[in-house]
Amino acid sequence: MAKQSPNKRVIPIQAVTDPNAKVYPRSISGIFQNWRIVFVWLTQIIFYGLCWLPWNGRQAVLFDLEERRFYIFDLVLWPQDTIYLTFLLLLSALALFLFTAVAGRLWCGYACPQTVYTEIFLWIEKWIEGERPQRIKLDAGPRTAEKIRKKTLKHSIWLLISLWTGLTFVGYFTPMRELLGSIVTGDIGAWEIFWVLFYGASTYGMAGFLREHMCKYICPYAQFQFVMFDRDTLIIAYDAERGEARGSRGKNVDPRAAGLGDCIDCGICVQVCPTGIDIRDGLQLECIGCAACIDACDQVMDKMNYPRGLIRYSTENAVAQHYTRPQIISRAFRLRTLVYLVAFLTLSAAVAWSLATKVPLKVGIQKDRSVLYREGNDGAIENTFQMHLTNASEQDRSFRISVQGLPGIRLQGTDTASVAGAGMQDLSLTVSAEPGSLDSGSHPIIFAIEDTANPDTRVEQKATFWMP
Ligand code: SF4
Ligand code: SF4
Repeated sequence: MAKQSPNKRVIPIQAVTDPNAKVYPRSISGIFQNWRIVFVWLTQIIFYGLCWLPWNGRQAVLFDLEERRFYIFDLVLWPQDTIYLTFLLLLSALALFLFTAVAGRLWCGYACPQTVYTEIFLWIEKWIEGERPQRIKLDAGPRTAEKIRKKTLKHSIWLLISLWTGLTFVGYFTPMRELLGSIVTGDIGAWEIFWVLFYGASTYGMAGFLREHMCKYICPYAQFQFVMFDRDTLIIAYDAERGEARGSRGKNVDPRAAGLGDCIDCGICVQVCPTGIDIRDGLQLECIGCAACIDACDQVMDKMNYPRGLIRYSTENAVAQHYTRPQIISRAFRLRTLVYLVAFLTLSAAVAWSLATKVPLKVGIQKDRSVLYREGNDGAIENTFQMHLTNASEQDRSFRISVQGLPGIRLQGTDTASVAGAGMQDLSLTVSAEPGSLDSGSHPIIFAIEDTANPDTRVEQKATFWMP
């Protein structure tokens, strides 16, 4: 029989008797629940608030697809900057690998939109329909006027939140104030209506109905993240060695003398679980790492005067080999995580340097292909070029244009151009040289474009000059 590597594990999918059975999570308080509340508020203040933040006379964060410009505070990205999008995706992937290998499903448990909106919808559900026993009773009971009133109120609030969420989402692509104005005047576009409704319906469906099924069966991240786990990854772990044999007992009974572990088999850890699993069955694909079962079990341990931590954040190796906290932390720095960390830091530094030194001017030059060269009125040989200037800053700027690279070469006509902030301008430029001053054929030249107010903003572009 093949020997199993100590770092290779198979994560079981819990045998669920009825996978479609509705889960009614019981309310819980505790340190991790407090953190979940903090993250719900934090993420929602950012999401709902950022699209209202003004910056340089426009919205601070705006992905203007129509103008093909992305604004992120002072940063303005143009279609030519898609390389940054590639870097962003690479950085996100590296951060995901690193974070998952070290901290497991912390993202799922605290900050994932699915978790956050499910939590918000559950707060409303509990506020209107009551605690777990009342909700179960209400759903199982007959259709009374009271039941219809409660369900109507709950779904109305869910729908309002969902619609506002859809509106906020679209507000990152169409300026939020304009979007609201267009709703009032009835000028809102068909695509905007579609995306508001689509995003709103997705929020309503996923947070109101699909809930844990999204995490269990649909979310691709949930499916593949276990590949990034090893036995030193942080997980929510039930300490079976300490907890078993489980069983009820009186508070004053010595569990060891009664042949019992610390688990009193109260089932509260299962009742608070938003995915409806029993963490005592071991690490499971369905566990989103929300830590509700830790808070629940710690309360039970307090009541029984047992030490906390029967269910706790730990690693599989730490539980099996009784690691101390410093040992757990030291094992976070292992070869795999260090490789991810170095790659992440190196790429982050490269992107930061590139953004910091980014010149807010883009230049395109094209030789007039219809006439290779011509003789001017003064007898000089002339070549014509089309120059496309893009002012990638948000301030109006003037640029000085010069041409270099050949003896006696010069620019005819105007050598300056003014371009409005975030604007573009096309110029026709004529470059000339004295006849006989150069050999026949092509010669490399350089156009230099420099901001008149800031010489550091300078771009050089190569071109070709033709002589007869
Ligand atoms: S909450 Fe703790 S004591 Fe109660 S069943 Fe779960 S693990 Fe056992
Ligand atoms: S087992 Fe615990 S940590 Fe995992 S989803 Fe359920 S309550 Fe959350």
